[in-house]
Amino acid sequence: MNLYKLSPVREGSPNCKFCAGVGFFLEENVKNSSSGILLLCSCVGESCPCGGKAPYMVYDESQNRMLPCVCHNARIELAKVEYLVKKAGIPSKYKYRTLKSMDTTHLSFLAAYDWAETLVDKWNSSGTIRQGLYLWGATGSGKTLLACGILNELILRYGTECRYAKINRDFLSTIRDSYQKESELHGMEQTIKKQFTDVEVLVLDDFGANKESDWANSQLYDLIDARYEEEKVTILTSNIQAKDWKDKAEGRIYSRLLEMAEIIHLDCPDYRESHNVFGTH
Ligand SMILES: [Zn+2]
Ligand SMILES: [Zn+2]
Repeated sequence: MNLYKLSPVREGSPNCKFCAGVGFFLEENVKNSSSGILLLCSCVGESCPCGGKAPYMVYDESQNRMLPCVCHNARIELAKVEYLVKKAGIPSKYKYRTLKSMDTTHLSFLAAYDWAETLVDKWNSSGTIRQGLYLWGATGSGKTLLACGILNELILRYGTECRYAKINRDFLSTIRDSYQKESELHGMEQTIKKQFTDVEVLVLDDFGANKESDWANSQLYDLIDARYEEEKVTILTSNIQAKDWKDKAEGRIYSRLLEMAEIIHLDCPDYRESHNVFGTH
């Protein structure tokens, strides 16, 4: 798939039929991978003088100094995208899955899709108020797919710093670990919380799947509250509807959710099963 409409990078040859001028493209048919990989396009790197060796410089005799190879910028841009996707912790089966590759025939999916597309399209427009999302529905309704689609597009289009986290495994458990003397995370509670608060866009997957305790609920409240105050976008996916939060944590989480997020219900059972990744499997 060429990334012309997604990436602003133009390091390839404008008429190239593989990359349409970007300089790299998404190879979707990769053995043992549902996500595909980014490849440098042959219009940039075919037998380039540096041979693909970092830092992609070549010696120029006439100027008697090292100059960037023809492949330099395209490789750097490609590596930037790979780095941001890796740092975001997007699960491998959702890597590089963009909104455009998703099936929108189901009406309830379409509503969430429209919301996502608007957020991504208007990301850098001045005067837009960026809102969060509370996306709820049964397992298999496509919540995680859609949430990761937003992250992938923000990374490709704007180089935005994103993070995907499962609420228990990546957030609550990590904080619990920081209380354990023998853990390598010991004493890191504030650092962990700061990372979660500071990242530009955060997906919290399985919100509410934690064992309920006052401690867990107050951690969740503090996190979404801090992000709300910092005007950062938070995307929550959950199996429970937002109003079920009314009776939990004295309603504090619920009232924050209403202020910070659009609430959308995904009512498409087995989205994952019925639609293949790129329609090619
Ligand atoms: Zn090309
Ligand atoms: Zn080169």
